[in-house]
Amino acid sequence: MSLSETLDKIMKLAGDSEPMSDEEYLQMRVDGYNSYKGGLDLIDCPKCLNRGDYAVAEDGRVVIKECSCMTKRRAMRRMKRSGLEDVISRYTFANYQTKEDWQKQAKELCERYTREKNGWLVISGNSGTGKTHLCTAVCGTLIKQGTDVRYFLWRTQAPTLKALANSVDYENAVRPWKEVKVLYIDDFLKGTVTDADINLAFDLLNARYNRTDLITIISSELTIEDILTRDEALGSRIYERVGVYIKTVGKKNWRLS
Ligand SMILES: [Zn+2]
Repeated sequence: MSLSETLDKIMKLAGDSEPMSDEEYLQMRVDGYNSYKGGLDLIDCPKCLNRGDYAVAEDGRVVIKECSCMTKRRAMRRMKRSGLEDVISRYTFANYQTKEDWQKQAKELCERYTREKNGWLVISGNSGTGKTHLCTAVCGTLIKQGTDVRYFLWRTQAPTLKALANSVDYENAVRPWKEVKVLYIDDFLKGTVTDADINLAFDLLNARYNRTDLITIISSELTIEDILTRDEALGSRIYERVGVYIKTVGKKNWRLS
């Protein structure tokens, strides 16, 4: 008599319950695992009780699988990290006004960009033309697709980095902006452009220019020609990386060049 048969016999003699089959034992372990409450935040998931995974019985073993809520949790975390969390639900493609042809073309181009993601995206135009709306809609789509995005508002972020320019802390401060998969620079070179602005812009964008796996999205009141005139090295790097480029003249003549 084997050990397990002996144990079965003892259990039968000891009580009225049937000994557990292998399947029942396996299911007990699965159920045990799936009954633990996890500590993940953001969503309350009834399937995994906020553990992020769940157990199943497969081929006589307990197998742990990732819960489908994790895709959504990661997207929400990316959203929080991006700096765009507050505006992303307001600035979508769906609620972008397309009364005029240039608006339709701009929207189509940006939507196409989220599918192709070929090179950088630069949207130039006067204030009030919806540059931020479109770029944010692009970023929102990229975040949902699983990409890390960070938002860099030139007039608030650039002064901090410029102030650190000659200090030992500069590289650490600028590195996240150089290395994030998608960097969205809003109102690029807004206001009076100093040599310090150009130096920062060049350092940041040159680092990203040398990494073909990175995407940079720029909205600016300046056109690429304006930037080229101000600093050729900076302008030419942007120009080379731009796969899709939209320019506005007033509110009417958007063109793809
Ligand atoms: Zn879940």
